[in-house]
Amino acid sequence: MPELPEVEVTRQSFAMRIRGARVDAVRLGKPLRWPLGCDPESLVSQAVGDVTRRGKYLWLALERGGLLMHLGMSGSLAFSTASGSPGPHDHFDLVTSHGTLRLTDPRRFGAVVWSSAPDAGVAAKLLAGLGLEPFDPAFDGAHLHAALRGRRVAIKQALLGGEIVVGAGNIYACEALFEARIDPRTRSDRLSRPRCDRLADAVRQTLARALELGGSTLRDFRDAHGMAGEFQLQARVYGREGQSCVRCGGSVRRIVQGQRATFFCPGCQRR
Ligand SMILES: [Zn+2]
Repeated sequence: MPELPEVEVTRQSFAMRIRGARVDAVRLGKPLRWPLGCDPESLVSQAVGDVTRRGKYLWLALERGGLLMHLGMSGSLAFSTASGSPGPHDHFDLVTSHGTLRLTDPRRFGAVVWSSAPDAGVAAKLLAGLGLEPFDPAFDGAHLHAALRGRRVAIKQALLGGEIVVGAGNIYACEALFEARIDPRTRSDRLSRPRCDRLADAVRQTLARALELGGSTLRDFRDAHGMAGEFQLQARVYGREGQSCVRCGGSVRRIVQGQRATFFCPGCQRR
């Protein structure tokens, strides 16, 4: 599943190139998770503005409103001057004077939705309830500590939920908890303020590392899933069940929390 770093790297791969282009045509494939919400013809001849990101959503500004895009479970966006004719999994093309932005999504949980503004209509509804951006200065130990008060769920679940901070998807949550030496099963409301400080730092650093990795492979970036794979190869605890912990030499364990695999080291991650 494309996570925040993949979405951000995707954004960086085309935001500057599509900016200032004119929409020449819009082509829709099979239905996606939500309908486009406007007549595709109404987008033609509009100028493209900035492409910004909120959580795992991208907002592509047009002269009148914009498009909110999500990659769902299996989507990827590619911008090219030589897209060729769409294949069976290509369900949205924004053909512009600078090239074609194409959504490829075999499972079709992704979406492209028109909205009059990111804070109005459908976009506002979809973006409501998202936690802070991990690189927002307001996301720190104090924020995390206050947000975890009264939450009895395991800390890994609280991170994955995305209502406190966005971006800590499964791999990144496991890695951040490892870096902060916190057992993923720890009850959220039992985390002390100093441990929240460490965890907030770890979330930011883990995501920064993933972004750097994506940035370094940006030139031949084709597929958002390739990047998660790259990150996994460098992961310090994720996917390493039964192997020795890189920090203490203990044995990495795999458990299941909320139907997602969690990897951690019982030797150096404490409750
Ligand atoms: Zn360890």
